[in-house]
Amino acid sequence: MVADQTSDRRSRVYKTTLAVNEALLLGSVRQHELTEAAESLNAQLQAEISERKRAEDALRASELSYRRLFEAAKDGILILDADTGRITDVNPFLVELLGYSRDEMVGKTVGELSPFNDLESNQIKLERLQMEGYVRYDNLPLKTKDRRRIAVEFVSNVYQAGDKKVIQCNIRDITERKRTEEQLKTSFKEISDLKFAVDEHAIVAITDPEGKIIYVNDKFCSISHYSRQELLGQDHRIVNSGYHPKEFIRDLWTTITRGKVWKGEIRNKAKDGSFYWLDTTIVPFLDDLGQPRQYVAIRTDITARKQMELALRESEERFRTMANSITQLAWIARADGFIFWYNQRWYKYTGTTPEQMEGWGWQSVHDPAVLPKVLENWKAAIATGKPFEMEFPLRRADGQFHSFLASAQPLKDSEGRVVQWFGTNTDVEALKQAEAAIREKEERLRFLNDLAEATRTLADPAQIMTVMARMLGERLRASRCAYADVEKDAEQFTILHDYTDGCASSVGNYKLSLFGARAEATLHHGQTLVIRSVEAELVPGEGADMFKAIGIQAIITCPLVKFGALRALMAVNQTTPRDWKPDEIAIVQAVAECCWATIERRTAEEKIRRLNEELEQRVAARTAQLQAANEELEAFSYSVSHDLRAPLRHVMGFVNLLQKDAGPSLSEQNLRQLTIISQSAKRMGNLIDDLLEFSRVGRATVQTANVNLDELVQETLGDFQAETKGRDIAWTLPPLPAVRADRALLRLVLVNLISNALKFTGRRAQAKIEIGCLPGNGSETVIFIRDNGAGFDPHYAGKLFGVFQRLHSQDEFEGTGIGLANVQRIIQRHGGRVWAEGVVDGGATFYFSIARQMEA
Ligand code: FAD
Repeated sequence: MVADQTSDRRSRVYKTTLAVNEALLLGSVRQHELTEAAESLNAQLQAEISERKRAEDALRASELSYRRLFEAAKDGILILDADTGRITDVNPFLVELLGYSRDEMVGKTVGELSPFNDLESNQIKLERLQMEGYVRYDNLPLKTKDRRRIAVEFVSNVYQAGDKKVIQCNIRDITERKRTEEQLKTSFKEISDLKFAVDEHAIVAITDPEGKIIYVNDKFCSISHYSRQELLGQDHRIVNSGYHPKEFIRDLWTTITRGKVWKGEIRNKAKDGSFYWLDTTIVPFLDDLGQPRQYVAIRTDITARKQMELALRESEERFRTMANSITQLAWIARADGFIFWYNQRWYKYTGTTPEQMEGWGWQSVHDPAVLPKVLENWKAAIATGKPFEMEFPLRRADGQFHSFLASAQPLKDSEGRVVQWFGTNTDVEALKQAEAAIREKEERLRFLNDLAEATRTLADPAQIMTVMARMLGERLRASRCAYADVEKDAEQFTILHDYTDGCASSVGNYKLSLFGARAEATLHHGQTLVIRSVEAELVPGEGADMFKAIGIQAIITCPLVKFGALRALMAVNQTTPRDWKPDEIAIVQAVAECCWATIERRTAEEKIRRLNEELEQRVAARTAQLQAANEELEAFSYSVSHDLRAPLRHVMGFVNLLQKDAGPSLSEQNLRQLTIISQSAKRMGNLIDDLLEFSRVGRATVQTANVNLDELVQETLGDFQAETKGRDIAWTLPPLPAVRADRALLRLVLVNLISNALKFTGRRAQAKIEIGCLPGNGSETVIFIRDNGAGFDPHYAGKLFGVFQRLHSQDEFEGTGIGLANVQRIIQRHGGRVWAEGVVDGGATFYFSIARQMEA
């Protein structure tokens, strides 16, 4: 019974030991658990030893059972004679452990046994074993026969076996346990180093299974701005930013509560309200039942990266918006040329989808004839990293090709490696067409210029038509080219000359209707008739027969409808079918207009030239007639004036004689009448003098010379001394310029104007007369004579200079009315003008100008 109990206990102990060993071996038990296990083991061992003592008698009695136990034990057992210290028994386990046979050990003392050799003297003293009854070594090094070093737990007990005292030494190999302990220690060191490293690097928090924070490192406090005290005992709601949706948090929890690691990026809110981003890994630590006993969150601060990502996203968004709004097609390719993005305009233009275009799909919208060159250039750009530029056609959604100018720039990283290509394709179709149109227009203008030059000296319309038809025919390499005049009835037309090349001449007169209703209607409507193939385009009756008869297969006929009627035609013919190009049609139209305009202009010029010639002849004849009449008139007025003098002299002479001889006998009235006759005759004499002067002035030749006006004025004033004597006259005479004029005639002008000024200021207490010069306008010199005399009604200023024109009565102021007419005639013969300003009773100013070319 006792033996069974002991065996049970041993087996329990043994199992426990095995468990401990397994735990140690597995290395997954924490140190304190190991220690507890070891202590428990020790306690159990102690209990077992005590129990064994108490059961010594029973053991002895159950030798057999003991023996079996002894033999089967998994610890080494050494039995010594307590008195001699010699080994009396060794169990098989020890034999196995130490490598010595039972015989090698039995009969020897422990000290004589080589495994204990080194130590025995120091540690396992027999006296001690004997005296103390119990000795324990927890870590006793031993050497096996094959010289392995092992560590054992050595426990010895002295007990009475019957009449004998025996010492039983239990020797347990703890080499493996020791090694596991060492490993554990190392592991712990490593773990604590690791924790330190993690704490140094990461933001760490540990929570209990409910999420209550039980540990935070400094970095957590630093980034959250919360103190450790504020954080411990809280859950992470304290830093929750409200940014993430419920599903996000639910996923976190679902993952970790299932014992799985959760990874994600969390945006948190610090105590100061700022936000920060954490790259987070939450690791659940599980208990023996596989349930999370705590969660460890390890994170790194990715705020900067997130901000950069955000900025990048915004910038990309901006870029895409911009790229979608530009008028070009735009695309982005990887460094290897794989295009991964196109703007919307690309898809709209090509009518394709992103799936069709991705990568190298763009080839499908290229012209197969040009594609090989495009591929070659694009691949060369990719290989060299140099910008790509090329012009090529791209197919539009409707199947039409447009020319595009493509340009791709490589985007390089800091080390100069191409990371992306950014390309644009600009539609240059309209530009190319415009350029071609300009080129065509320029060529047309050049040709029209050549036409103008070639016909510049031609006046004969027939010649003009011939030259133009020839030049146009040559330029178009046409078989025939002719300009035809359409008769007034718009039915007939005549070709006077034509240009032909390998084709019969069409000179002659034709009926328009012969060419069919279609041609007739088109031309009458002013539209150009274009036939590329008479065979293909005209049915019989539409003029096909006529065209064929004159050997024509292709036609451009441009009508000129002027003043509402068909007036002319420019026709270009080809003996073979011909695909007339728009610019060829345009040039025929331009030449037709040019030919018409040139003929019209030349005809008009010719008419004007003839009219001019006629006019000149008529003017010359009239001038000659006029001159003759003038001369006759001059001669007549001269002789009349002359001839009138003689009878006048007689009248005056006989009046004087009558006064003298019959004066005393005559009545008062007769005497007054005689005086009137005398005065009238005198006035008539003056009149005749003035008329003679006027006539002389008209006939006299103007002999210009430099005239010093100051001198001339002084000289003229000298002539008026007698008349001015006793009068109060304030003269204003600023310096005058020199002029180029006939001195004598100019003196006559001054005499007339000064005498008028003196005459019309005669009733002024003080006369004021100024002779000056106006600031010039460059082309003439203007002299004026101003007075403060009687003036005149400005309404009649224009009449002042006519012969016999007087604004004042003879009674008021004397005069013949010829002076100012003389002034005007003289000044006009100098190429100048005269005019006057005046106010009744407010004085008058007379101006005359002398043209500068007449001046010195
Ligand atoms: P709630 O409305 O509270 O929860 C949303 C859903 O999540 C719930 O409907 C439920 O399905 C699930 N859920 C919530 N709490 C639990 C729970 N205790 N157990 C099981 N399921 C639950 N949150 C942060 O905002 N920032 C952090 O940095 C952060 N770090 C964490 C680190 C660890 C180790 C752990 C364990 C949790 C962490 N959390 C963090 C989560 C935090 O504890 C709160 O659950 C969260 O902040 C609550 O957010 P809410 O109010 O939006 O969601």
